[in-house]
Amino acid sequence: MDDETIYMGVDVSATIVKAALVNAEGEICEITQEAIGDDPGVVLEGVRHCVERLRDRASERRWPIRSAGVGVPGLVNARTRRVEAAPNLPALVKVNVSEVVAELLRCPVLIENDANMAAYGEFTCGAARGRSNVIYIAVGTGIGAGVICEGKLYRGSLGFAGEFGHTTVDPEGLPCACGNRGCLETIASGPNIVRRARERLFRDRSSSLSSLAIPGAGELTPERIATEALTGDDFSLMILEQTGKWIGIAVANVINLLNPDMVVLGGGVMVAGELLLNPIIAEVKRRAFAAMAAHCEIVTSLLGGQAGVIGGAMLARDTFR
Ligand SMILES: [Zn+2]
Repeated sequence: MDDETIYMGVDVSATIVKAALVNAEGEICEITQEAIGDDPGVVLEGVRHCVERLRDRASERRWPIRSAGVGVPGLVNARTRRVEAAPNLPALVKVNVSEVVAELLRCPVLIENDANMAAYGEFTCGAARGRSNVIYIAVGTGIGAGVICEGKLYRGSLGFAGEFGHTTVDPEGLPCACGNRGCLETIASGPNIVRRARERLFRDRSSSLSSLAIPGAGELTPERIATEALTGDDFSLMILEQTGKWIGIAVANVINLLNPDMVVLGGGVMVAGELLLNPIIAEVKRRAFAAMAAHCEIVTSLLGGQAGVIGGAMLARDTFR
């Protein structure tokens, strides 16, 4: 693999920076990560460490890094390339991540919303390969989405398109970090699944999770709920079923709006697999136009947690030709 042309993908999430060297076929050659928190200095340091580590490995192997794509959990202005809002990692608004990466690599660098980047990864190398109209939805700390329209990433007028998690599903719902009320994210994101489970567990003590509802009794996470559901815990199954129903309502709306070939569901919460996927599909069948629902495949991500870094690298490959 000497002298192979290489692209770098950098994926910044609320808690971790992940970076990878990816070849032109979308295969990961090297990958690294570092924990971060919501502090401008910590974010930049995490990014710098990951990029330097990979830059040094690439130079040892004589792989020229052609270009890089950086994904961030926020609204990225397509014209100024600045992050204008990042409710799940506010420090991002104060820093210029792509500039730091460009200084370190001395190659073209683009910055993009993280879900857009993961959508591009699934579209070029993952579950949606070969499809033209695709919606990728990431359910994790927040809920984001990326839209591939006629084979191209759809960004909207300012670059902010795809804020699927902030579509209203409950007019009287809880306030959301975005300023609205009753967004899908206030019900179905990882932290909100845990919140709903905790609230119910105070009333329902029959679940194997009930000891975790008491503060300090251990960590209740979406992954833990999924694990208990897989072992047949009725309470955990019910929580996932309800979550799937809410996500399904929003997915049905977007299917009616865009008539996609495929909806790909990724993000940490999707470790629940079919236990969450099946109620989503059932709700879509109930609500979307039958012909559109029948045409649209709804699947889980193929690239999992690596969709972002692969997508970032592939978007850089296709942008800076
Ligand atoms: Zn919102």
